[in-house]
Amino acid sequence: MATVWRSNFQQKAAGYWTSAYVFGIVAAVILTMQSRLGPFAPALCTAIVIMANVAMLAGFRAFNGKTTPSVLFFILPGVYLLLADNYPVLYDNPNMNAMVQSLFVVVVALTNAHAIVTGAGNRELPMAVPASIVLVVHAIVRGCVIYFTLFHPAPVVNGRMEADWWKLFLLEIFFNTTMMAVSTIVLIKDRAEQRHRIASETDVLTGIANRRAFVKQINRLLPESEIGAALAIMDIDHFKQINDNYGHEAGDKVLVDFARTVRYSLPSSALFGRLGGEEFAIYFPGGNADHGAVLDQVRHHVAETTFDYRGLPVRFSISIGFASVETAGKHFDSLFAAADCAMYLAKKEGRNRVLAYMPSMRIREVLDESSKDHAELAKLPLTLKAI
Ligand code: GH3
Ligand code: MG
Ligand code: MG
Repeated sequence: MATVWRSNFQQKAAGYWTSAYVFGIVAAVILTMQSRLGPFAPALCTAIVIMANVAMLAGFRAFNGKTTPSVLFFILPGVYLLLADNYPVLYDNPNMNAMVQSLFVVVVALTNAHAIVTGAGNRELPMAVPASIVLVVHAIVRGCVIYFTLFHPAPVVNGRMEADWWKLFLLEIFFNTTMMAVSTIVLIKDRAEQRHRIASETDVLTGIANRRAFVKQINRLLPESEIGAALAIMDIDHFKQINDNYGHEAGDKVLVDFARTVRYSLPSSALFGRLGGEEFAIYFPGGNADHGAVLDQVRHHVAETTFDYRGLPVRFSISIGFASVETAGKHFDSLFAAADCAMYLAKKEGRNRVLAYMPSMRIREVLDESSKDHAELAKLPLTLKAI
């Protein structure tokens, strides 16, 4: 664990977990040297065990991106030591000492299990469920320890508990420590992989899905797409002028604000991605909503918005082309080509508009691009030519 932490100090959870194991070792050493350390040693050992558990808890909180006030490391063991000083009954019988420790461990283990399964994005980590099972099993075992210490306390010989259940429990401590070490290291590895995957699928500038992730998601959704599924391509009009007038940094800032503005104007079911440069795409997974109307609202909203770059007002419009699976088919390439074709015509017709793809557009596009070369037209399928 220390090695994992050393290789990445950003990984605070590994730091806390390392300290938890160090506290565990200290507690074990105190326990073995009890006879030399005097009658207060068991209480000292419990205080350190409490500290180890706070470190474990702080580790799971850090894993979920939460901070833990460091005073907690001193307050909880401190309160316990004060109580133990005033009420020796808390520690002078080893059964009672084990009970107090177990009470604390049960609460912390269950809190940690809860943190692992409920933390943002944790469900997709392969180790999340096994780790929480290890924690819950540990809580159950320590619950049994509480039961035994209260109702079948172990006979104490030379300050040590002599009972079979206690020996079994000591074995469980060994297994649990090992399993927790493995689980937490694997959790850190899972988290690192998750971060890499998210980074590889996120556009660095705008934080939305990049082309790769967007295409991957659509290719996954398209085969089962419902009626009304559609792909839209939007391109900022005369974006080059924004760069030319205000500088590249202004262009970047506008792209970020633009992406945020569009994201909030879209229904939550729509996928939004940056294809590259100032070109974005939206996928509507289906339903009977009027995508043309939704897109026109987005277009209108952008055209009405004054973006800001260091106090300077920046305004622009967008052109959008979209195609539904009914008109362009369920293959990404054909859908994309159709939406792109509509977008191209939206630009051509004067920009700041939304056009729905119609197969007849293909002919116009081809005729536009190669009006001299009518051989191109011959390549079109018969149905298109008929239109
Ligand atoms: P049109 O209306 O025809 O789309 O004109 P346009 O100027 O938007 O299109 P064009 O393709 O000529 O220029 C796109 C510009 O977008 C060129 C490039 O410098 C700029 N651009 C692409 N990606 C980025 C980026 O990440 N940041 C900034 N600041 N500019 C970018
Ligand atoms: Mg453009
Ligand atoms: Mg462009």
